[in-house]
Amino acid sequence: MTALLAIDGLTVGYGPVLALESVRVTVEEGGAVSLLGPNGAGKTTLLRAVSGLLRFHGGRVNAGAISFDGVRIDRLDAADRVRRGIAQVLEGRHVFPELSVDENLKAGQYTNRRSSHPQSQAIRDEVMALFPVLGQRLTQPAGLLSGGEQQMVAIGRALMSSPRLLLLDEPSLGLAPLVVRSIGTALSAINQRGVTILLVEQSTALATSLTSRSYLMETGTIRAEGPTAALLADGAVRAAYLGVQA
Ligand code: ATP
Repeated sequence: MTALLAIDGLTVGYGPVLALESVRVTVEEGGAVSLLGPNGAGKTTLLRAVSGLLRFHGGRVNAGAISFDGVRIDRLDAADRVRRGIAQVLEGRHVFPELSVDENLKAGQYTNRRSSHPQSQAIRDEVMALFPVLGQRLTQPAGLLSGGEQQMVAIGRALMSSPRLLLLDEPSLGLAPLVVRSIGTALSAINQRGVTILLVEQSTALATSLTSRSYLMETGTIRAEGPTAALLADGAVRAAYLGVQA
């Protein structure tokens, strides 16, 4: 399979702080890949570099290249990258709390690559089919929903832009195992419909169920790469991943 996302020699700094050094990551079209690793490893920074949000956090690409569908994107602004099919679900379930669920979803629709009304309606129907509970909450302010429902709104809003690549930053954070499982089921269905996924996770359960391949990151570099299950079965890798000494 061809790589939809190809990151090569990526070096990123926040002023004098080096956050990524010579990172190489590829994600094949239609694939699902995890970035695992302890706090501060650089996982969020890598997602920001791909989505173009890096500059809003004071970060800068110092070296390397990011290609999406064979085209260099590392100098494009974030809105342009969304139009090309890259959507990011930020860490911490970012919804517009005062806006209704419906308005939150519509906010994602404005950046749709295929913006005609019937197509937007079809995507909205798909989001409702993936997360039926949102159908009963459409008119409620998103800030009043449970954590799991807010995460569904955040994922649904990202889907409204018809992404080819969905970047997910710790979607399971702070959610009960049952809720994580239902979000995992929805994300698997999204992936099976052809949306490529790059997932940052601390939950081994979600990484294992959703992604076939993973990278282990530590202090801004890639330490290991391989099938997710095999990587997480390795004692030394688990110790590094969990941030504890073996
Ligand atoms: P976490 O799971 O804690 O979010 P992470 O693997 O996502 O960790 P990053 O958040 O990408 O790691 O952080 C990588 C490094 O960059 C860390 O040393 C962090 O302190 C630093 N860093 C992250 N964001 C900024 C910022 N806006 N300004 C300065 N340094 C930053």
